[in-house]
Amino acid sequence: MPKTVLIVEDNELNLRLFSEILSLNGYATIEAREGAGVVDTVRARRPDLVLMDMQLPDASGLEITRLLKADPEVAAIPVVAITALAMKGDEERIRAGGCEGYISKPIGVQRLLDVVKQFVGEGDAPPAGAT
Ligand code: MN
Repeated sequence: MPKTVLIVEDNELNLRLFSEILSLNGYATIEAREGAGVVDTVRARRPDLVLMDMQLPDASGLEITRLLKADPEVAAIPVVAITALAMKGDEERIRAGGCEGYISKPIGVQRLLDVVKQFVGEGDAPPAGAT
């Protein structure tokens, strides 16, 4: 079974890009475009990693992360913050909110893959016939 990454991102282009990159590198993905329902999705699907945009239309990604970290059933699932913020103190604030890592936008392909690999290991080999 491939490792599964839940991508929570309201920017459609970013969501498509992350999803495509991860799929091509042997990870399964689940997509969410808003904060509502994310806690239920994590509880139901138990992804191996959550990539969490900090700025969602209906919620702060950090608030959603706090809810996840307050739930003993899913608290161990690592959450990596995706943030446009890169100001002094942001990393501390994000980590204090429970995120195990963070990536600043704009996000490079290699940086994304490095972080995902760091938390869940290598993806599966691509399916036969894939180019
Ligand atoms: Mn956003």
